[in-house]
Amino acid sequence: CGIVGYVGPGSSLDVLIGGLRRQEYRGYDSAGVAILDESGELGMRKRAGKLKTLTDDLDTTPLPDGRTGIGHTRWATHGGPTDVNAHPHLADGGRLALIHNGIIENFAELKAELLEAGETFLSETDTEVAALLVAREYREVRDLTEALRRVVDRLEGAFTLLAVHADQPGVVVGARRNSPLVIGLGEGENFLGSDVAAFVEHTRHAMEIGQDQIVTIRPDSVVVTDFEGAPVETREFEIAWDA
Ligand code: GLU
Repeated sequence: CGIVGYVGPGSSLDVLIGGLRRQEYRGYDSAGVAILDESGELGMRKRAGKLKTLTDDLDTTPLPDGRTGIGHTRWATHGGPTDVNAHPHLADGGRLALIHNGIIENFAELKAELLEAGETFLSETDTEVAALLVAREYREVRDLTEALRRVVDRLEGAFTLLAVHADQPGVVVGARRNSPLVIGLGEGENFLGSDVAAFVEHTRHAMEIGQDQIVTIRPDSVVVTDFEGAPVETREFEIAWDA
């Protein structure tokens, strides 16, 4: 129910946990993070329960920190609130991580198609179909933005999706349909969030993303297109309220 993404020179983990904490008011039953560390490894940790369950776990067994990461709080719709059903969901041999808020209405038919194609599922979520589909496209196009673009048109319902891939450190890709997502613009760092609370501690400068649009953030750039890949008009704004 809350999403945060980060690319920049700082500690992803601090930004992600802070961003999730400030979105706790939205309600959730599980939380998780995925971080690309400096050696190009993708680390992931997720736990059912409060954010504190996740942070206690990370205190006991730390995850290598890095400069690219995504974080998620889940409000379960498909599959109970368990560790396995929590997000992120991994694919491509653990090299791709994806988080999702919303519901993929046609997940059952997509799941049947993926099972037919020999894919295996670990969770009971609707989300995992998106992770596996993006991974399959990634193996062809070797570009996370293009891979996500090829998948979003096949998904019905409401979704905010964020993905990272171990081959592409310094890149977080997001997509939105009938579900919230906003960009935080920093100096040499950029953010994504379900709402500005996710990053207001780090920047007051933000950019809107329209429905059916895809965004690719890197430390020094933000590119927004529609689902066909055409550039779109963007609007920047200042966050006015007190953090
Ligand atoms: N439908 C997804 C799930 O149940 C995402 C729920 C959410 O918005 O957090 O895992």
